Amino acid sequence: MSTTVVTGVACLVCDSPLDIESGSEKGEIVECGTCGQEHELTDTSENGYEVSLAPEVEEDWGE
Ligand SMILES: [Zn+2]
Repeated sequence: MSTTVVTGVACLVCDSPLDIESGSEKGEIVECGTCGQEHELTDTSENGYEVSLAPEVEEDWGE
């Protein structure tokens, strides 16, 4: 069962609407279907969701 709801949350990069599955929990990663930017759910409530940019996993090996 996978219900996609319109949350009114927009991608922080390209401003496209993000589809966040109902029942998603805080801390889940939501990927923008348009630009691929990952967002972390920082808050969930009945009224909507808040997201912030997911920290990029950067492996810096130095040069
Ligand atoms: Zn985007």
